[in-house]
Amino acid sequence: MTQKKIALVTGGSRGLGRDMAISIAKKGIDVVITYHSNEDAANVVVAEIAQAGSTGHALQLDSRDIQSFNDFYSRFSEYLSDKYSNDHFDYLINNAGTGLFSPITDTSEAHFDEMMNIHFKGVFFLTQKAIPLLNDGGSIINISSGLARFSFPGASAYASMKGAIEVFTRYLAKELGGRGITANVVAPGAIATEFANGSNKDEDKVGIISSVTALGRVGEAEDIGSVVAFLCTKDAHWVNAQRIEASGGTLI
Ligand code: NAP
Repeated sequence: MTQKKIALVTGGSRGLGRDMAISIAKKGIDVVITYHSNEDAANVVVAEIAQAGSTGHALQLDSRDIQSFNDFYSRFSEYLSDKYSNDHFDYLINNAGTGLFSPITDTSEAHFDEMMNIHFKGVFFLTQKAIPLLNDGGSIINISSGLARFSFPGASAYASMKGAIEVFTRYLAKELGGRGITANVVAPGAIATEFANGSNKDEDKVGIISSVTALGRVGEAEDIGSVVAFLCTKDAHWVNAQRIEASGGTLI
């Protein structure tokens, strides 16, 4: 019997990560999600993964806390070993993250470090520590943002870290290609989740974003999960080191 494919989706307890987890589960892939503080929400997603026909599991992770990653991977490996008699997995989706909207002149070192730790340093080291556990032929998908291509005032620290992740992704593709592991970026445009205090649902912002988006609206989580799920299939095996923007054509 062939081993089931397994994905790890950070920040899979709500928003974009939730839809990614369910979309991946619909492809017949088992999914481990992480949550930061809301275990109940994560358990709801685990049930939704089961409804989609795959097996889900939730683990706590603070992706800013690099010192905790060894412990995280111990818990992850233990779960995989118990469940599959093998602690390897196939797809790492670095999605967890929070927003910051602050003009450059108001951005404190603490704000900057928060963005760096969650969106860049955390992703770098969480990925580094995943590499020995990833099966050859697997895939890494890093979630960036449209804001790494176009600029809105107030997003400088956040968007700079997303830019860094896009460079990191090309290096992952280069260094892991020999093992058949691909690395790609999915860059969503503005999506109406709870991200950044739900600001993408504010009436004014909805109007602005819709007016500069070819498809004429703000995105929904369901616009993104299927793109990530596609990258977790054999159909995407020749897509490597790419930045795929899913923004409905924002600021083109
Ligand atoms: P969201 O709805 O706010 O969900 C954030 C997720 O990340 C939750 O699962 C949350 O867990 C988890 N999380 C928060 N802080 C964490 C921490 N310190 N360590 C580990 N996990 C943490 O956000 P979203 O809109 O889905 O955004 C997901 C990703 O897409 C982020 O990387 C974001 O930068 C990117 N993105 C979003 C948009 C957008 O407009 N929404 C656009 C482009 C890119 P808890 O529920 O337990 O707190």
